[in-house]
Amino acid sequence: MKAVFVSIFPELIESFFSVGVINKASKESILDYDTVNPIKFLKKNERLDDSPYGGGPGMLIRTEPLDKAIKEAKKLTSENTKVINLSPQGKKLTQKKAKELSFEKDLIFVCGRYEGIDQRLIDSVIDEEISIGDYVVTGGELPALIVFETIARNIKGVLGDSNSISEESFSDELLEYPQYTRPEKNNLGDVPKVLLSGNHKKIKTWRKKQSLGRTFLQRRDIFPKILNSNDFELLEEFFSDLGYESDRIADLLESIDKK
Ligand code: SAM
Repeated sequence: MKAVFVSIFPELIESFFSVGVINKASKESILDYDTVNPIKFLKKNERLDDSPYGGGPGMLIRTEPLDKAIKEAKKLTSENTKVINLSPQGKKLTQKKAKELSFEKDLIFVCGRYEGIDQRLIDSVIDEEISIGDYVVTGGELPALIVFETIARNIKGVLGDSNSISEESFSDELLEYPQYTRPEKNNLGDVPKVLLSGNHKKIKTWRKKQSLGRTFLQRRDIFPKILNSNDFELLEEFFSDLGYESDRIADLLESIDKK
């Protein structure tokens, strides 16, 4: 996949591509990137930003240089490449969305600055708006890189072990189970015995129980409303392991349907 970032701070994008698995995948030609700086399209003494009609705080990136930069980005990518604008007003990024976008050949990311970009550009040249969450950062570069990295991890060959993504949080709509590494014992505690047992079936069941329990406790907003009876029992066991009385567990799980 080739990603083209329309940004006035290309150095942020370049530094991201210079490290880790993304750098490795670029060297192996699994990923490719380019940047287009709208400043390049300004005439002499022209400014990149201007004040919003109707007043109000801050400035907007002017339409003309940004439109030209997006056109240039289109020349660097295949036909019909999606143009994504990063915006707190966009649809929130999810693992599902990232997976869906990982099948695109190329992508263009428009990184806003100041108060954002002119609505006419959003209406005419932007295909999708994506938000990284309900908060505001200063520019679109970090959101674009977060979106891109989430997508890239779903592309075959980017991660060394392709199993790692299928085990991670959100891969089956649950958070990941707790993980431990050497030593078995230290001043902070012991590694749960089951993980040292070598019994893969038991380890798998324990991990599922932890994933269910964690997601229930930390992310009720994404927790499934219906569970199969195995998972329901695992969740009951999770709370019983924590020392909860059966009445309390029944109250807690009252809202979950069992199928
Ligand atoms: N005035 C805009 C608003 O209230 O919706 C916020 C503009 S923000 C200061 C500048 C740029 O940062 C945006 O154009 C966008 O590219 C980026 N940005 C800020 N927060 C973001 C978020 N949560 N998700 C995606 N992009 C974001």
